[in-house]
Amino acid sequence: MEKIQMQVPLVEMDGDEMTRVIWQDIKDTLLTPYIDLKTVYFDLGLKKRDETEDRITLEAARATKEYGVAVKCATITPNAQRVQEYNLKQMWKSPNGTIRAVLDGTVFRTPIVVNNIKPFIKTWIKPITIARHAYGDIYKGVEMKVERPGRAEIVFTGEDGRETREVIHDFAGPGIIMAMHNLDKSIASFARACFNFALDQRQDLWFATKDTISKKYDHNFKDIFQDIYDREYAGKFAAAGIEYFYTLIDDAVARVVRSSGGFIWACKNYDGDVMSDMVATAFGSLAMMTSVLVSPDGCYEYEAAHGTVTRHYYQYLEGKETSTNPVATLFAWTGALKKRGELDGIPALVQFAGDLEKAVTDTIEAGIMTRDLAQLAEGEKRIVNTREFLQEVKARLGRG
Ligand code: NAD
Repeated sequence: MEKIQMQVPLVEMDGDEMTRVIWQDIKDTLLTPYIDLKTVYFDLGLKKRDETEDRITLEAARATKEYGVAVKCATITPNAQRVQEYNLKQMWKSPNGTIRAVLDGTVFRTPIVVNNIKPFIKTWIKPITIARHAYGDIYKGVEMKVERPGRAEIVFTGEDGRETREVIHDFAGPGIIMAMHNLDKSIASFARACFNFALDQRQDLWFATKDTISKKYDHNFKDIFQDIYDREYAGKFAAAGIEYFYTLIDDAVARVVRSSGGFIWACKNYDGDVMSDMVATAFGSLAMMTSVLVSPDGCYEYEAAHGTVTRHYYQYLEGKETSTNPVATLFAWTGALKKRGELDGIPALVQFAGDLEKAVTDTIEAGIMTRDLAQLAEGEKRIVNTREFLQEVKARLGRG
């Protein structure tokens, strides 16, 4: 059978530990036999990052801006123990953080739904995508412990030296203070990334804040979203038959729980942090979550939502076969290939990526799965190791 030809290469970012092993297995078993796979390869494995003083991560991020679509393997974010383990020159920063800073994007996380793993919330029959704003609020908060009575104020000093003040509180005794900020520019790019993604997926977009209590801070988020929607997206949403829906965060939570899913939920930074774990857990497993970073200028970086599965890697190093779930990593590849196919007008590539995703869900729905899913799935099941799982997917792909 002739291989599917690609035009523009994908930016391929290799990674660490067990996911690095799976990365190669996925390519060898399910991609290169069928696709004339074109990639611009960056090794973001910790050893290479250390050798290049982390320049390789910046280069990979810049290449994503140039080519438009990237696929990334999970990578180690070093801590003190990793500095020792890999004898590192420095405790290098999180590659995801570096890439996010270059692309200035929003992360969308969507569960992969199969019919024999039932979400804890029975009504959720379609996936719920969480879009998390990745800048500011408490993650850039400034905090202070108050030890004695006194007045706390917020002071803004303009470049012209003029001051604006607000009293926070007159403290009669010890307490705590936090100041946080956000930027209209960042909120606007978050809003556009969400509106674009909703159009891309043809799904409704929900957004919620606590604007009744936070009349300036949260209200600003609400106003920026509404303004951009009215001016740039209302017509496109109507044409696509989808809706933008704003409500209060407490109302949103109640509606989400009672919904059947199938929409995108845009969340402020902290809400997204909490809600994405809630949604992932309620749908089943981190190993069944896709994740894509979308930049306001239309670049896409696909990855798995989980880490490098260190525990399994140490077993692998002892020569043992592991039953590591490759689904999220595989969906990072299919997501990237599908997007490349759409952008370059290669229907065969889009079709292949869709068929491969279906072969994965068919395999799990036939009861064949890795160990992590066994306690979640209903009905008959056979636990297989990673390689066997990939072979079962290949058999169901039905491409010779
Ligand atoms: P992890 O996601 O690798 O593992 C967390 C838990 O979930 C473990 O019990 C693991 O066995 C299980 N798990 C995760 N993915 C699985 C899979 N595909 N199949 C089976 N079980 C799976 O996170 P961690 O243990 O906190 O971190 C390990 C390393 O990964 C760290 O060095 C961390 O820096 C890195 N990390 C990277 C990313 C990323 O690149 N996006 C994200 C998180 C963690």
